[in-house]
Amino acid sequence: FAPWDDPEEKPLIRFQNVTKSFADSIVIDDVSLDIYEREFLALLGPSGCGKTTMMRMLAGFETPTSGRIELSGKNIVPLPANKRAVNMMFQSYALFPHLTVWDNIAFGLKRSKMPKDKIAARVEEMLKLTRLGKFAGRKPHQISGGQRQRVALARSLAKAPKLLLLDEPLGALDAKLRQETQFELVDIQETTGTTFVIVTHDQEEAMTVASRIAVMDEGKLIQVDTPDRIYESPNSVYVADFIGDVNIIEGRARKQGADLYGIDWADGQRLLAVTSERAFTEGQPCHLAIRPEKITISADKPVHADNAVQGKILDIAYLGNLSTYHVELPGGMIIKAQTANTRRMSPRSFTWEDAVWLSWTVTAGILLAE
Ligand code: ATP
Repeated sequence: FAPWDDPEEKPLIRFQNVTKSFADSIVIDDVSLDIYEREFLALLGPSGCGKTTMMRMLAGFETPTSGRIELSGKNIVPLPANKRAVNMMFQSYALFPHLTVWDNIAFGLKRSKMPKDKIAARVEEMLKLTRLGKFAGRKPHQISGGQRQRVALARSLAKAPKLLLLDEPLGALDAKLRQETQFELVDIQETTGTTFVIVTHDQEEAMTVASRIAVMDEGKLIQVDTPDRIYESPNSVYVADFIGDVNIIEGRARKQGADLYGIDWADGQRLLAVTSERAFTEGQPCHLAIRPEKITISADKPVHADNAVQGKILDIAYLGNLSTYHVELPGGMIIKAQTANTRRMSPRSFTWEDAVWLSWTVTAGILLAE
């Protein structure tokens, strides 16, 4: 399942050169984005980058200043919100406190003048989907936060929208419940086949639920890709730094082979990296992004010969499943390295002030222009 790799595939949603300005500030800047049927797309980016504005334009609460938004090939920009096969679930859930769970789910269906027996069947189907059957007769204040979240989801899906927009849907839940609910959300999305677009601040959440992540910055799309590609092959320092932990080493590129570059680093050393995705001219400023878990720590000699630096352990954070080390290099730069604690009661091999080697392979780092 990778419709975005298939040029024949028609997207469900198509943003075409969409720009949105408020007064004199450009909030969405010439964005083109395709979203496919059955896809679970996450919009990710810092506060104010325009995620909510993207959602509001899809829902019909904002009109683009220029550009087109298509749903199944038709321009939906002129259509009012209630005429679009799009629904939005808000963070506050907006449940009616005086109505039962059953009536909350039925509310939109009743307004659409659906026959009574059809409404009943649809509500039952939604109760089953969200495992709320037992709570059908309760009011929102008589159920838990997680259950309220599921009622809101059931209500949003009752009218079978083609597209469901979720604005921080799990923001009100505590960490553990939030994690469980992420998997539930994916199950429900797969069962119904509805296309979901989610806005979240939580990058782990985006990685868990999304088939693709769209990373935004200041109204622009920076990279749209699967979670693993976003993490393993970010297209910029911005994306590498936004998703997960990373060390960024600045240097100048020296061509050494077909896809092999040396990186002359201000701290003196020449590092090595391969890339087939970008080409660098001789001496071009570049960045080597290296994830902490790709770095091996060793005591007496480096494990990997191609990239090896010596330093001193400044800090150790023991996190149970893994340990994070801050290692200071002679030039003063601090590198983060991580080890997985896979064995029970494994001795902690390094301690503060230890002199250690950090090393990594030529394919471990990601060579980036900017
Ligand atoms: P957050 O994560 O904080 O919700 P966001 O990425 O969803 O942020 P938006 O809510 O889309 O960002 O806002 C993007 C920018 O547009 C912000 O600078 C915001 O102040 C501005 N903006 C949003 N709505 C309006 C409006 N109605 N009038 C003027 N400016 C607006």
